[in-house]
Amino acid sequence: MKKILVILLIIVFACSLFVLSACEKDKKTVLYVYTESGFPPFEYSKGDEIVGVDIEIAKAIAKELGMELVVRDVMFDSIVSGINEDNAIGLAGITITPDREQAVDFSIPYFGDAIQYVIYPKGALELNDELMIEGDLLKNKVLGVQTGTTGDNIVQVEVKEGGLFAGATAKGYDNALIAADDIGSGCDYVVIDRLTALQIAAANNNLEASQIAGLDAESYGIAVKKGNKVLLNAINWILHNLLEEGKIDQWLEEHSESIEE
Ligand code: GLN
Repeated sequence: MKKILVILLIIVFACSLFVLSACEKDKKTVLYVYTESGFPPFEYSKGDEIVGVDIEIAKAIAKELGMELVVRDVMFDSIVSGINEDNAIGLAGITITPDREQAVDFSIPYFGDAIQYVIYPKGALELNDELMIEGDLLKNKVLGVQTGTTGDNIVQVEVKEGGLFAGATAKGYDNALIAADDIGSGCDYVVIDRLTALQIAAANNNLEASQIAGLDAESYGIAVKKGNKVLLNAINWILHNLLEEGKIDQWLEEHSESIEE
């Protein structure tokens, strides 16, 4: 009887070890992707799902690395500071900036055609000869921005230093979709990256979007925990191949159907 009990105990112990190691294995194979789903065409909601160019890239990375993909939809300004796990990445149209490079490591750029645009009621702003909006026209206005973005930062700097948008106020929103809904009530115009601005304007008959003159181009990279060289190198290799195969251009096209310039 005692013998049977000991054998049973050994079996239970062995089973729990097996379950534990299986859990441990599951944990290791998850790739957490932090994003903010109000940034079309890079990430946006379609029904219950988050889709977009960045999600396609995330899927390709997870597949290549044999990991299970878990997408976490969070506030944009928590992403860079929140990448503390070895199996977590930030994929949210994140512009590579020297400030952010203090907190995370960035992959090679996978999109280099971003710049700040302004979304405004149709006809409310006049374009210059280069079909851009002069910063002067944004002075003393309430400019809706997505909190923590480069657009937010640019507006704040340009306001503070009496620059392009002197006298304007930056009003923070959770994302540009919400900010654009508030045009005409809570804010005058919205400042956000090019493709997102164009997509929002294309989806709304009363709005249009144009480039703001005098600002620099921005490039997006994937954020990984600082010093996580193994994951960074793997991601760079995968991105390199996706770029080479024209996959990212293809996804941009697929997710930007409503964009017209
Ligand atoms: N590219 C901009 C930034 O990095 C905006 C990104 C976003 O809104 N998801 O700040």
